[in-house]
Amino acid sequence: MKIKTIVFNPFRENTYLVYDDSGEAAIIDAGNLSLNENKTLLSVITSNNLTLKRSVNTHLHLDHQFGNGFVSETFHVLPEAHKADEFFIDKLPETMQMYGFPFLVKAQRLGNYLDESDSVTFGNTELRIIHVPGHSPGSLCFYHEKEGVLFSGDVLFELSIGRTDLEQGDHATLINGIRKKLFALPDYTVVYPGHGETTTIGYEKENNPYL
Ligand SMILES: [Zn+2]
Ligand SMILES: [Zn+2]
Repeated sequence: MKIKTIVFNPFRENTYLVYDDSGEAAIIDAGNLSLNENKTLLSVITSNNLTLKRSVNTHLHLDHQFGNGFVSETFHVLPEAHKADEFFIDKLPETMQMYGFPFLVKAQRLGNYLDESDSVTFGNTELRIIHVPGHSPGSLCFYHEKEGVLFSGDVLFELSIGRTDLEQGDHATLINGIRKKLFALPDYTVVYPGHGETTTIGYEKENNPYL
């Protein structure tokens, strides 16, 4: 599995494009917002001759769903996320205004719900879904067991964890979820978070001041 990280929008959100030798790809958290960012995403996909098969969201805070409309219109691939985060789609215009954006992007409906009984498949790749609520009620992590890779969204960061003061956030739930579900993964697992640099499960177990 190959991973391309692109940092998008004023929140410096990590959008991940993952693909394998089949040429099929999935996008995790399309955060592209400006015309230039749309162009960047398009050129990364076309220059690598990729066929986009899935567009999945770790959660639906605004910075992670900005590009869902562009991806749906351009590639005819609808976004997929946990049902419990769907209400953030309706709130997108309001939330963008609250953050002072002078324009709005189209709120894009989901094409499918994801939960732990599903997996994200494309090409020869399968990502397991791990539900870790607390930062948002529908926060999902995507795990590639064979390669030891975890896309953690805003659940776990390098030396930090997701904030829990946003709507339907819960600190104790988040801490429990990380300890029970993410710290059960092998120490060598490389964590690709929704913001900032990669880390590992082992490093965070040892050093994360919040856990
Ligand atoms: Zn978030
Ligand atoms: Zn975020």
